Amino acid sequence: MKSRLLTLYFSFLTSLACPVFVMGESHVAYLNSIKKFDVHTHVRTDAAFVRELLEKQNFKYLNVCVDSRGSEMTLSQRENARELYQKYPRHYAWVTTFDSKGLFEPGWADRAIELLKEDFENGAIGVKIWKNFGMEIVNPKGEYIFIDDPVLKPVFEFIAQEGKTLLAHIGEPIRAWMPTYTTEEGIPRNYWANHPEYSFYDKPDKPSYSDIISAVDHVLRDHPNLRYVGAHLASLEYDVEELALRMEKHPNFAVEIGGRTRYLMWQARGKVRAFFLKYQDRILYGTDMGAPAGMSLHESESRKNRIITRNAHCAQYLATDDEIPWGDIVSGDRPIPEATYSVTGLALPESVLKKIYYDNVVRWFPGADEGFRE
Ligand SMILES: [Zn+2]
Repeated sequence: MKSRLLTLYFSFLTSLACPVFVMGESHVAYLNSIKKFDVHTHVRTDAAFVRELLEKQNFKYLNVCVDSRGSEMTLSQRENARELYQKYPRHYAWVTTFDSKGLFEPGWADRAIELLKEDFENGAIGVKIWKNFGMEIVNPKGEYIFIDDPVLKPVFEFIAQEGKTLLAHIGEPIRAWMPTYTTEEGIPRNYWANHPEYSFYDKPDKPSYSDIISAVDHVLRDHPNLRYVGAHLASLEYDVEELALRMEKHPNFAVEIGGRTRYLMWQARGKVRAFFLKYQDRILYGTDMGAPAGMSLHESESRKNRIITRNAHCAQYLATDDEIPWGDIVSGDRPIPEATYSVTGLALPESVLKKIYYDNVVRWFPGADEGFRE
């Protein structure tokens, strides 16, 4: 009798505890337990701490090359990413890029395709195109060149024909066309304060935000067979409805969320959550984190901590309904100097999290799961 009473007492306690648990919905433990991809990383080092972290966190990286700092850099990134993939296929897949040098010289596209062919033979699962198209590269007449320029057409056709994926970081957040602001202490506090070359605020001779986005729309329209993954929410981070318009029109269009969760947090939670549920097959997890070559021990340690923090922060937003301290001034996905309000996490169901972190990556980047199958 006594033990029966005890059982009843404990079940009463459990029933009290349950509603509390349901209120604070969290799928973080689930997320930690499954295999995950980060589709947007830049790793340039063979340092063991990255691989150890990947194993600890159950992640595999898509290691992405970028045509950002000249031919030599592009070439060395391609070699480096290929080598890391060949040595550690459980830890790294690789996404190559092409060199925009000589874009207007005869035979450029043929040469670019030749190199891509070689990279595909060496295991590259996609091709990155960068914001230099639309923001930097000019033709011999001095006019800006956009992603829909005919010079790129044969390259996109080749990528589609080979069944590979275009990962496109085109443009910048719309805020790049707004003033670069400072904190109350007068410290410039965002990316464009440190990279004024990509701030187009009050520069009438530079392309507009809509010039750049329209060019993307043309590519989606003209290349329906090209699998197109828009990095950084395809630079349409400010409104999920803008993304939904493209999702509806272009079945071969998906997005990666790297470095843009803050913009999702600024939108109505219900709207963002509905977007994630509706397009759960076309959203991929990414962070834009990475590790450069030649880091000191101290730098490695702080890099590791930044990656851990970034992943934990994103997991809290996507997988829980926690109240997350937040603010208007944000650096690297965290509010500074201090949070002024809070946002509620999306508490996405486990089935959706599994797609965003794993299943969608395998579908949108075939071959990504080599050495990392479930
Ligand atoms: Zn990146």
